[in-house]
Amino acid sequence: LRFHDFGLENDLMHAIADLGFEYCSPIQAQSLPLALQGKDVVGKAQTGTGKTAAFLTAVIDDLLKHPIEEQRYAGEARALVIAPTRELVMQIADDAKLLCKYTDLQIHTLVGGMEYGKQQRRLHDSLVDILVATPGRLLDFCRQRDVFLDQLEILVIDEADRMLDMGFIPQVRQIVRQTPKREDRQTLFFSATFTEEVERLVEQWTHEPTTIEI
Ligand code: AMP
Repeated sequence: LRFHDFGLENDLMHAIADLGFEYCSPIQAQSLPLALQGKDVVGKAQTGTGKTAAFLTAVIDDLLKHPIEEQRYAGEARALVIAPTRELVMQIADDAKLLCKYTDLQIHTLVGGMEYGKQQRRLHDSLVDILVATPGRLLDFCRQRDVFLDQLEILVIDEADRMLDMGFIPQVRQIVRQTPKREDRQTLFFSATFTEEVERLVEQWTHEPTTIEI
């Protein structure tokens, strides 16, 4: 499968071509047909497989295909990617910026150890199309009512097993609770390993998902 085969939005397709991606990696070939239809996908994939481009392509295409006409409020996110570490968040956001370079979509990152006020000001000054965040810092912003997740359209959970290992699941649970119920959002869930605990999260957070393994 090639990226060309999906009927992606032109502005996204150009950015993908600029990155030199032509053929889909196995995880992309399996997940994109489902994710682009708005279906929930559970992916068993390690880093290095192209999973970041897989979920970002689905997220960006969906946001571009369904522009919001009515008024949007500061801090209201359309898509959220939760990842365990600052490094991973920055890497996902960098990829998202490259894929969005021909669009008006606004990407925000929230990670611990960065100045709260600076992140807060940026949230107030522009729309939030894609929010990429670590759980603890995101929860701070939700509690301060600087971020709102009730209009969220797509939730991406990346490296769920690592978030479990790092003890972040209580925070992620509180975050997920602030998003629309699972029937009313799309959820893309990735983990390198699937223990019983990870499976339980899949059951709680996804809606009629298709599981893919590469
Ligand atoms: P990831 O698994 O998301 O960490 O991606 C691994 C690397 O593969 C990244 O450097 C991507 O830029 C690259 N990549 C992702 N998808 C493709 C593709 N379809 N063709 C070529 N390179 C890709």
